[in-house]
Amino acid sequence: MASAKGGCMCGAVRYECTGDPMFMGNCHCRDCQQASGTAYNAAIGVPKSAVKITGDVKYYESKADSGNMGKRAFCANCGSRLFSLPAFAPDLMVLQAGSLDDPSIFKPQMDIYTSSAQPWDYMDPALPKFPKMPPAN
Ligand SMILES: [Zn+2]
Ligand SMILES: [Zn+2]
Repeated sequence: MASAKGGCMCGAVRYECTGDPMFMGNCHCRDCQQASGTAYNAAIGVPKSAVKITGDVKYYESKADSGNMGKRAFCANCGSRLFSLPAFAPDLMVLQAGSLDDPSIFKPQMDIYTSSAQPWDYMDPALPKFPKMPPAN
């Protein structure tokens, strides 16, 4: 993933990421379910400093399960979810795989917050599973 571009449904917000992903995974926490309106968030962690954003992005700030605050970004016009900014990691930006121009570059390495995964949410049995966050390394 040398350079990945993405944006919202209406095209008002565009972003370009020139950094390598730090992780890719599926988050099944209740916040991701509510914010996405579906089973999980397909998340790609990248260095925030490697992402350029254009357009009118709105942020919704909420407290995560971890107790940390975090901001979820969406297009002010069409409402498409784009990325999150966790407060605990100032240079981390979590892109939502579906907002990429080529979402097929998403290769999840793990399932996290599986303790709140829904019974109708089918998970790849080959991926490592963590009931909450993976242990810090
Ligand atoms: Zn839009
Ligand atoms: Zn989550």
